Amino acid sequence: MNLILKKDHLNHLLNAWRQEYEVYAPQSLQNFTHFLPLQDGFELAFDKAHNTRIPPKALFLPTSEALLKFTRFGGYEEVPSETAPRLIFGIRPCDAHAMTMLDTVFEQERYTDPLWKARREATVVVGLGCHEPCQTGFCTTVGSGPFNHAGLDAILTDLGEIFLVETLTEKGEHLFTQLETASEDQSMHASEVQQAAAASMPIAFETEGLKQKLDQNFASPYWEEVSRSCLGCGVCTFLCPTCFCFDIVDEAQRGERVRNWDTCMFRTYSLEASGHNPRPSRVERTRQRLSHKYSYWLDQINQIGCTGCGRCVRYCPVGLDIRAMLRKAHQLPSEVLHA
Ligand code: SF4
Ligand code: SF4
Repeated sequence: MNLILKKDHLNHLLNAWRQEYEVYAPQSLQNFTHFLPLQDGFELAFDKAHNTRIPPKALFLPTSEALLKFTRFGGYEEVPSETAPRLIFGIRPCDAHAMTMLDTVFEQERYTDPLWKARREATVVVGLGCHEPCQTGFCTTVGSGPFNHAGLDAILTDLGEIFLVETLTEKGEHLFTQLETASEDQSMHASEVQQAAAASMPIAFETEGLKQKLDQNFASPYWEEVSRSCLGCGVCTFLCPTCFCFDIVDEAQRGERVRNWDTCMFRTYSLEASGHNPRPSRVERTRQRLSHKYSYWLDQINQIGCTGCGRCVRYCPVGLDIRAMLRKAHQLPSEVLHA
């Protein structure tokens, strides 16, 4: 259903929701935008045409969290997984799409992460479509778009003085029961804005046949070439909304078993107890990063494992641009098959 939300009514609505939910929305902190809980007197940071620096996956998979508490005498207790009702407001479609991909990792039939599941079930997700797509984003290249609905309970389109609200699930409808229905003209205007936004995004690289090129060139000198300037800092993966690697360590002094974000871009990530490392240099680690996103995810769930959010392009300290890397990969030769 299409509804109209006047912008000057937004703060009132957010405050009303705070009675029922813990509400997270993009706010400025130290020169970046972050999803933070709304406090009295909050100020939204909606004017920036790009994503928060840290993706909202951190609200479901925190950078560091205790999984259980133990004593030196062998006793332990699990950390409760219950989560109070939450609302994330203003999430961009690429990040909501990424959550649906992470669901396939954390909510499998045989293995379900209770913390992830509880947080997902307790959270309503309201998206803000990108009427002015960001410079580094390329969602349309990877089969999505600036108004993609995946993972959202409702999505907003900015029409100047008003937002057009499309409710997509019952949870979304429950939020906006007080709003008036949009007119046909307003719905048509929103549709034009959405189409214009998608049309304004150039195709960043060719995805057709890209997986095959990556698979066939596993041993190519290309990997050495594209990884040469990489610092191995891990920013591209820590800030990626679809990356989910973690490490679990026992913090003996705290008596806690803790899960911390980890990344395949670190040397120690794949270091085995024997001392052998199957990915000993940045060459192999860069190959893993790109191949996971553009080949292995396709094997696993038949989707590219990148939503085109553009963070790795924006924040890589040496300007390594995944779009350029993949354009080059697409030009690699196909494997020569011998009879
Ligand atoms: S952000 Fe750039 S320099 Fe850092 S690990 Fe990723 S590609 Fe390498
Ligand atoms: S690979 Fe880069 S552009 Fe793609 S989802 Fe991850 S951070 Fe965003």
